[in-house]
Amino acid sequence: MAESTRDIVLETLRSLSRLEDDGPLVVSLYLDTRWGDGRRREAARLFVKNKIRQVLAVHPPEDGGADLFKDTEQIRRAVDEVLSPGSRHQGRGLVVFASTERQLWVAIPTPRPFENHLVVRRVPYLMPLARMADDFASALLCQVDSRSARVLEFVHGGLAGQSVVDSPEVPGRHQQGGWSQMRYQRHVDWLREKHVREAGDVFVRLADRLPRAQLFISGPHEPVTWLRAMLPKRVLVREPTTLGIDSTCELPGVVRAVLEGIEKRERNLERENVSLTLQEALSGGLAASGPGEVAIAANRGAILELLIHDDVPVSGWRCECSLLLGAGLSPKQCPGCDRGTVPCDLGERLVEKVYAAGGAVEVVREDSRLRDIGGVAARLRFGV
Ligand SMILES: [Zn+2]
Repeated sequence: MAESTRDIVLETLRSLSRLEDDGPLVVSLYLDTRWGDGRRREAARLFVKNKIRQVLAVHPPEDGGADLFKDTEQIRRAVDEVLSPGSRHQGRGLVVFASTERQLWVAIPTPRPFENHLVVRRVPYLMPLARMADDFASALLCQVDSRSARVLEFVHGGLAGQSVVDSPEVPGRHQQGGWSQMRYQRHVDWLREKHVREAGDVFVRLADRLPRAQLFISGPHEPVTWLRAMLPKRVLVREPTTLGIDSTCELPGVVRAVLEGIEKRERNLERENVSLTLQEALSGGLAASGPGEVAIAANRGAILELLIHDDVPVSGWRCECSLLLGAGLSPKQCPGCDRGTVPCDLGERLVEKVYAAGGAVEVVREDSRLRDIGGVAARLRFGV
């Protein structure tokens, strides 16, 4: 479920990134549609209503805004439906891109809420969706004890499912009538191992079903050791991490521990990725560092993966022909086509250009090295 949503999001990003700059206006809407809080839903509804009013004031229907009026009407209806009591909407967030003139209507419920945002401009506003697509981590935790176990499935910052493996026939270590101590202990050990194997089977089955999920294990030393011993190689290469979660820990505490585990691992992978890319750039290999180099690589369609810092503004310019991007101050004329140039949010444009060319984007949360070089770096397909 989660991973197919991820595919839909990536596909959407790719196709929307290809829209031409000089075409009709596109409405981009991001919403927080979490249930369980009526105030938040009301806030989302009001937000959309007010924003639409503002948009139509700038582009009145009788003065060129007729299609925009249709788009906003369609959006208002869709939002009302999503937020109405009894709605079948499953997402905690909603993203919509609409443009009647471009025959564009995309509405995707998302597992993570967005900050409410409505933007009207000639290209879709993709940054929040790009950030989410990159952060689509799913995870599995196998919490195993000598007689009970559960496998928790996490999708996108929340608990998505739980499988319980209880083996009540596994007794404690006390003597029972009729058994010699040794035979009894052997029997108990056999039951306990059987129980861990059953839990492990469930874990492996789910891990196979979610090939991108991060894997976590927790529990007392002995069952954890047995569990690891029975895991097949294809699961072990995914490096399941052992988390120290107390067996008395309540579910919210467990969820927190796993989310911290996911976060930590993601950050480590990002740091590693930044290190390797910058090293590669320094040694003159297939990498670019800093806005200038990265813009040149993007212009040539050479970017395999863009690394972009979450909160470093990257300013630059784009040519009116929308073919070239550049860093820093806008030149009077585009060096490629002699037309004019306009200042732009270069970071956002780079993200669009890379997606449009079939590349990947990694949004890096915190990394001082990436910050120091201006917020962007890239791994390249070929040298530029
Ligand atoms: Zn140009």
